Amino acid sequence: MSQLLEQLRKVVGEGNVVTGQAVHADYTHDETLTAAPVVPLALVLPGSTDEVSEVLTLAAEQRVPVVARGSGTGLSGAAVPRADGILLAFDRMRRIREIDTENQIAVVEPGVTLEQLDAELAPLGLIYPVSPGEQSGSLGGNVATNAGGMRAVRYGVTRHHVLGLEVVLADGRVLRTGGKFVKCSSGYDLTQLLIGSEGTLAVTTEVTVKLQPRFTQSSTVLAPFADLAQVAEAVPHIVHSGVDPSILEYVDVLVMAGITQAAGLDLGIPDDVKARTLAYLVVVLEGMEADRVDEDVQRLGTLLDQLGAIDVYVLPSTSGAQLIAARERAFFVGKAAGCDDLIDAVLPRASIPDYLARLAVLATEHGALVTGCGHIGDGNVHVTVFQPDDERRHALMHAAFELAVSSGGAISGEHGIGTAKLPYFLEMQDPVAVDLMRAIKQVFDPSGILGPERVLGVPLVGDGHGGRPA
Ligand SMILES: Cc1cc2nc3c(=O)[nH]c(=O)nc-3n(C[C@H](O)[C@H](O)[C@H](O)COP(=O)(O)OP(=O)(O)OC[C@H]3O[C@@H](n4cnc5c(N)ncnc54)[C@H](O)[C@@H]3O)c2cc1C
Repeated sequence: MSQLLEQLRKVVGEGNVVTGQAVHADYTHDETLTAAPVVPLALVLPGSTDEVSEVLTLAAEQRVPVVARGSGTGLSGAAVPRADGILLAFDRMRRIREIDTENQIAVVEPGVTLEQLDAELAPLGLIYPVSPGEQSGSLGGNVATNAGGMRAVRYGVTRHHVLGLEVVLADGRVLRTGGKFVKCSSGYDLTQLLIGSEGTLAVTTEVTVKLQPRFTQSSTVLAPFADLAQVAEAVPHIVHSGVDPSILEYVDVLVMAGITQAAGLDLGIPDDVKARTLAYLVVVLEGMEADRVDEDVQRLGTLLDQLGAIDVYVLPSTSGAQLIAARERAFFVGKAAGCDDLIDAVLPRASIPDYLARLAVLATEHGALVTGCGHIGDGNVHVTVFQPDDERRHALMHAAFELAVSSGGAISGEHGIGTAKLPYFLEMQDPVAVDLMRAIKQVFDPSGILGPERVLGVPLVGDGHGGRPA
């Protein structure tokens, strides 16, 4: 081990290999509720693609597992280190290499955070519209999880914005995919294959993304409803109406109470309306011209009224922005309240009313409390589960995922599989798909050093399974 540490120090520099108690606690976990913190054998902080390549070459030669880490905000356990491995973190690779305003493209290193990129783009009238709730997340982490977030209803998710990648393969070779062009029909699309692979196929060292013009006008509409099913049923109508919301979220009454209280936010909803409300729809409309946004707000208001909203509120711009910021903190509010796990299932939009109703029944059967909010415009629910008993909670999670899959959905809409959802994924995913994914993993990473046991349960070669998938 001391020889490996010596070799790593030669590659990245003395101060950029950290071990033992010197590893800050932040690096020992991500934000997953169910994964225990782990101190890595070595925290390694490369400063360039060449250094990443040399580190991976050493790791492959010595069969040392490598877990890549961006900002550690992930919710799947995939960035939690291994005690016998390298944690490769990108704190030193945070340069924005290029903002090409003519082609509306940015080229960034993997450690660049969303808030950092946004601060550079705002003065240029541009935006990178993918907006997972945690703005401290890195672009490398976003690519690895195919991050989504509130704006996916209008703009899509990370994979719809990444044009190219530079990655280092498990054997140290550097691969470039795609580029500064928006379409390509030249062989297999390796960019898309790598997006969402949660650090198990390659390590990203550069990301090329497309940008959008930044809207100057915005309006936030809040509609309370007397029941959750009505909220969910309203969503397809809003999507079909053509108002093209940038954000279309549902927030149930418990979550709304929690997030507004935590943010000290009074939205001015009368008490008698609050008393009749079980869930809210939050809709943000944006555009370049105030008149057109106002017109759409009017149309939306009429529609919400027809769809059974108790009332419709157009929030003042400050409250609107504060509500969106408060919604982004919903995870931490649930965590502070002691929630035990999180469901991030995705479904066909029209199946959500039935899913939420049946989930409530399942929760009662398993003695759990479930509360929720989510990106309902793209069929993605985020349900917080309160059931401290492991066995009962696992039974509920199993039933909830099974219900999502049998309703035509998937286990995770955006947080990923990692370790947290692995048993459910392996049981419920089409076995042919799992076989193919494992074959792809074998081609990219024959020794299994990248994120062992994550996503597909493939161990490090020689790690007790004889190199075969677990
Ligand atoms: C409050 C809160 C709200 C959130 N809201 C959303 C949301 O709305 N939508 C959403 O999609 N997610 C959301 N997330 C989850 C999280 O922010 C995203 O998963 C994000 O993409 C993780 O980025 P990160 O830099 O923190 O990655 P990490 O947590 O560090 O890592 C995540 C994965 O990426 C891999 N990885 C990191 N860097 C690299 C690299 N350079 N090369 C290869 N693999 C790499 C890791 O190995 C791991 O598999 C939320 C999290 C929190 C805490």
